[in-house]
This record gives sequence, C-alpha cells and structure tokens, in this order.
Amino acid sequence: MQYDKSSGVSSRPAPGTASRASVRSRRAVLTGAVGAGAAGVWALVAGLPAGGHDPTGGRALRGAAAPGRAPGTSARAAAAPAAAARPPAHRTRAFAGAARGRTGAAGTRPPTFVRERAHRTLPRPGRRIALTFDDGPHPVHTPAILRVLRRYGAQATFFVLGECAARHRDLVRRIAEDGHVVANHTWSHPDLTRLAPAGVRDELGRTSELIHRTLGVPPHLARAPYGAWDRASLRVCAGLGMEPVGWSVDTADWQRPGVDAIRSRVLRSADSGAIVLAHDGGGERTQTARSLEQYLPRLLDRGFAVVPVEMAL
Ligand SMILES: [Zn+2]
Repeated sequence: MQYDKSSGVSSRPAPGTASRASVRSRRAVLTGAVGAGAAGVWALVAGLPAGGHDPTGGRALRGAAAPGRAPGTSARAAAAPAAAARPPAHRTRAFAGAARGRTGAAGTRPPTFVRERAHRTLPRPGRRIALTFDDGPHPVHTPAILRVLRRYGAQATFFVLGECAARHRDLVRRIAEDGHVVANHTWSHPDLTRLAPAGVRDELGRTSELIHRTLGVPPHLARAPYGAWDRASLRVCAGLGMEPVGWSVDTADWQRPGVDAIRSRVLRSADSGAIVLAHDGGGERTQTARSLEQYLPRLLDRGFAVVPVEMAL
C-alpha cells in the first residue's frame, strides 16, 4: 500500500502494517489538543526559502556530520543566518553538544535541500542500526525504554509529538541528557498530506520551537505521521532546516502483537543501515520496552552499532 498515490513520494509501510484509516483512528486520541499556533514565529519561518532540488537524492550531506555524539542536536556546523531572531535566553543551557547546534528564528535551522522522499535507511555504510521511537514522550513508557537503552549503552532517536513534549518537558530533557536525539513528529499527529502548507508549517514549526526552547537547539530531523510526506510537506520540512526520516523496519508494536512477535520482526529484518520504527507513546507500550530488552542485546551480539539517526546523515 502506498500512503499517497498522488505524490509518489510517501513511505510504503512494511508488510503487515495496518491500513492508514485504522492508524488514523488509533490516533484520534492524540488529536484533541491542537493549539492556536505560534503565528508570530511562523511569519518569520514563512519567509525562509525552501531550498533547491537535491540531485543527489538525499545524500548531499553524507559525510558532513561531525564525529561523536551531540545529544538533541545536529553535529553539522554552519553560520546562523543573518536574519536570525534573538535566541531564547536559555539557549546556552549546558547540554552537551548544544553549543554546536545552528539556530535561526526560534525552532528553525537554515533551510536544507528539499528531498524527494524521506530517508528510510542510514546513508552511510557499515554495520549500524538506528532505533527510533515515535509519539512520546510518555511518563511511563519513555522512562522504561530509556532504562533499557541505558543498560546497554545504546543511543536512539525519539520523534516526539509537540503536544506530549509540552506536557513532559522534563522527559524531553532526560532523553537528550541520556545521549539520544530528540526529533520532530509534528505537534498533534495529523496527516500532513491533507494540510495546506501553512498547516504543515505550524505543525512542524511549533514542535521545533518547543524543542528549541526546551533543549537550547532546534531539531534537525522530522518524521511525518504515518510516514506520509508529499512534495509540499517535504518543502516545508526543508524550509525549517530538517531532514525527513522514514524507516525500513516496522515493529508494528502499537498493535501489541506480543513481545516475541516484536522481537522476531526486528531480528528477522534488521540489516546494516536499518532504521527501526517503534513507539514510546500513543497508547499502551509495555511490549515495546520488554521486546527492546530482548532484541537490543542480540543486535549488539551480532556486531551492530546502535546509533542515533543523526550520526549517519
Ligand atoms: Zn506517529
């Protein structure tokens, strides 16, 4: 099944993934808290160019990342745009690596290339896997997942929802302090292909601004709900200075198929460069942390480095 037949650029879900309609109904609980938007900030964002076409198919930035971990921020360094707005006062708060992040208007980075599709695998070769967790932070399930990751010294990427992050900013900070990357999964989990560009900009931009104000740096990665990107939303994403990220392995953990089923899905499908999709929010996620406890040590035994997505872009 292809999410968006008209654009031809949306992610294809892995076999066994539920229909978009059922996913959407699962999300109904998440969609009740959309705020009015941050009109002032997004007027600034609207003026930013969206970047040009990338003939390299999303690989232009390969090799540009600095070595080492930069929790919650990009390792890429560049000058801030001349038109940068005044950063938040807490921008200089001492999170490791935060000072290296580029910042423009609150929540934005300089525009990047407009990708034709989201990154579905890690672009750099090597025996590396990225674990990603969407729809949090959640006060119970996110800490449970963080505990497992910490036990094995693994770093992951958390695509947070703005409306959840706003309620649990302490958890956003804890994710970053543990060395994981905090990324953007929109404010209220809408289907971006059904929104006008201004709506997409509000959903992504507002969330970036919250992350910026919480961690001192804006996110540099975004994932569309349902993996549903189209040309317009990819342009907005680039205009906000973020790379679009999909996945290559879907754990379907939100269906709660059982710990064994989730573990086997990962161990069966995980290959070099895989980006694994799981969820720390949006519902009951006990199976997610328990399965992670089982498949993470096995991935490490197989010689995989478990890395944040940012290290590979
Ligand atoms: Zn999601």
